[in-house]
Amino acid sequence: MGRTPLIAGNWKMNLNHLEAINHVQKLAFSLNDKDFNAVEVAVLPPFTDLRSVQTLVDGDKLRIVYGAQDLSPHDSGAYTGEVSGAMLAKLGCTYVLAGHSERRQYHAEDDQVVNSKVLAAYRHGVTPILCVGEGLPVRQAGGHVAHTLAQLDGALQKVTAEQAKSIVIAYEPVWAIGTGEVATPEDAQEVCGAVRTRLAELYDGEVAEAVRILYGGSVKSGNIAGIMSKPDIDGALVGGASLDPAEFVKICRFGE
Ligand code: PEP
Repeated sequence: MGRTPLIAGNWKMNLNHLEAINHVQKLAFSLNDKDFNAVEVAVLPPFTDLRSVQTLVDGDKLRIVYGAQDLSPHDSGAYTGEVSGAMLAKLGCTYVLAGHSERRQYHAEDDQVVNSKVLAAYRHGVTPILCVGEGLPVRQAGGHVAHTLAQLDGALQKVTAEQAKSIVIAYEPVWAIGTGEVATPEDAQEVCGAVRTRLAELYDGEVAEAVRILYGGSVKSGNIAGIMSKPDIDGALVGGASLDPAEFVKICRFGE
C-alpha cells in the first residue's frame, strides 16, 4: 500500500483556545470525505488549545487529527513548565513535533535532546514528526545533505525498526522557514530522497518505504503541487499558511 500524504499545520505560538475552536470548525466545514480519503490532515496547536481541539474533534467525530509542537524528554516529575508524552497521549494527540528548528535555535536543542524527545514520544504511543534541515551557510557551502543526514542519525539513536516505520520526517531547510523563500521541488527531492536512502541503510527497505517524508518551508497553495509531484515527498509541514483556514484547505487539496 502506498504512503498516505500528510499535511500538518504548525500553528506555532498563534491562536488561543477559542480561536482554535473557530479555526478547526472552519477546516471541518470546508474539508470533505474526498479530501480525507486522499490526505491525512493534522493541526499542531499550542498546548493550551489541545483540550478544546480534542473536545471538538471527538464530539463532532471529525477526521482531522491533531498533535503538539513539543514534549518533555521526561515522563513526569520536577520539570516545571514541561509537558509529558503521557499527557499528550491522554489528550488524544496523534503527533508531536520533535526538533523543530525554532526549538533547536531558541532552546538550544541538540540532536541528543531531540533523540530523547523522539524516544519519549514512542514510550507514550505518540508519533514523532522529526524535523531536520540545514541553515543557509550550510546550504551555501553544499553541506545540506550531509548535515540533514547527521541530524537524522542523531535523532534516531535507539529507535527500533518497528518504531521507525511509523515516524514522520519533516525536511525543513531553515532558510525557507517563514521567509517566503521556498526550496525548489528538485532541491527538496534531493534531500528527501537522501533521507529515504539513509533510512534503508539504518534499518531496511521496508522501513524506508513506509516512512512519510514531508517538506516544510514557506509552503503555500501556489507551490504545493510542485512539491507533491516528487517521489520522495509525502506531504508538507505548513507554518504561516496554516493560520488561514481557506489557504490551508487549498494546500490539503494540493493547490486545486
Ligand atoms: C514551520 O514552522 O514548520 C514552517 C515550515 O513554517 P512556514 O511554513 O511559515 O515556513
